[in-house]
Amino acid sequence: MSYQLRPFPRRQSTKVRIGSVVVGGGAPIMVQSMTNTDTADVEATADQVAALARAGSEVVRLTVDRQEAARAVPHIRDRLANLGVDVPLVGDFHYNGHTLLTQHPACAEALDKYRINPGNVGFRDKRDTQFATMIEVALRHAKPVRIGVNWGSLDKELLTRLMDENAEARKPKTATEVTHEALVVSALASAARAEELGLGRDKIILSCKVSAVQDLIAVYASLAARGDYALHLGLTEAGMGSKGIVASTAALAILLQRGIGDTIRVSLTPEPGGERTQEVAVAQEILQTMGLRAFAPLVTACPGCGRTTSTVFQHLAQDIQQYVRTRMPEWRQNHPGVETMNLAVMGCIVNGPGESKHADIGISLPGTGEEPAAPVFIDGRKAMTLRGPTIAEDFHKVIDDYVKTRYERRS
Ligand code: SF4
Repeated sequence: MSYQLRPFPRRQSTKVRIGSVVVGGGAPIMVQSMTNTDTADVEATADQVAALARAGSEVVRLTVDRQEAARAVPHIRDRLANLGVDVPLVGDFHYNGHTLLTQHPACAEALDKYRINPGNVGFRDKRDTQFATMIEVALRHAKPVRIGVNWGSLDKELLTRLMDENAEARKPKTATEVTHEALVVSALASAARAEELGLGRDKIILSCKVSAVQDLIAVYASLAARGDYALHLGLTEAGMGSKGIVASTAALAILLQRGIGDTIRVSLTPEPGGERTQEVAVAQEILQTMGLRAFAPLVTACPGCGRTTSTVFQHLAQDIQQYVRTRMPEWRQNHPGVETMNLAVMGCIVNGPGESKHADIGISLPGTGEEPAAPVFIDGRKAMTLRGPTIAEDFHKVIDDYVKTRYERRS
């Protein structure tokens, strides 16, 4: 049984093209990520973009914070071309984006989208002209923008005005509710201004990122109900390790389940020495485990218990996961559909055969005290029993043979 993608009620949104990638308008929910290198360092940044793209990031954002970074962007694009990587690049601009984009037309052209933070565009009378300058550059180069509001940099004048109005109201809202409203109003007002300046709705994506799960759900529910702009979802500053993964998953899953969200980013703080690509893997796993997209075969494994007193079962589960990862580049190329394959590695006879039968290929290892034999189930039927010290290698061969026959080779 292949992993089934669920038919899913999606909120209607406007289709936006970012380079070769489509977001919104019913397109598959897109996975994106962001570099953490100094953009002025062409080699390091291009290499990290390439790693993120190879891990499955369909769009990669990089910060463009100063002249050296803006100058580097076209060279990053060239180096990526030499590496054979063609992934849309997004420039993240704050404070001086209007200057950098106008002074560096090669940067403006090399990027596929500009992220504009309405809270960091400029202050008072300069804010409107600087925002307009960035939109004019987007129009000149025919690029889309993301109007990305963040509550760490929310437009303070707007927030103060809404708080003052609320204080006068007959039934005042809570300060949290007013802050949510300010985030949504900031995004929608900036989008309306961009449209007045001539940017089409098909060139605008919105986001309103906050760092708390319930706030994110409330803000996006409101944003989604008030327009058909394509939406970028992400819990900002989600944190490190399991906390960041769990918080992002909780927030994104609830919104996605409501049909809200056209592209996602999981903002994880890498552990020291950790892989930046982890955020891509987590985003893909959120979408795949929810049945919204398929990226790579899923390995189902039981947690183990007192019936698995040795670590053989854990080693095999890890080995299979790793084997699938290693084989995926070739399989993806030659065996379309393999990403929907389901594998099961189970620890004993209690749930092993049953769960294995639900997978395309499943193996049920012997638990403590059971006969040292591992039945293998293919397409729900017992196909063989593996024994001895080469169970892992033998199981690799079973998987390889299945992929070759089940997912026809691309001619
Ligand atoms: S399948 Fe067996 S080993 Fe795995 S959790 Fe269930 S009872 Fe324990």
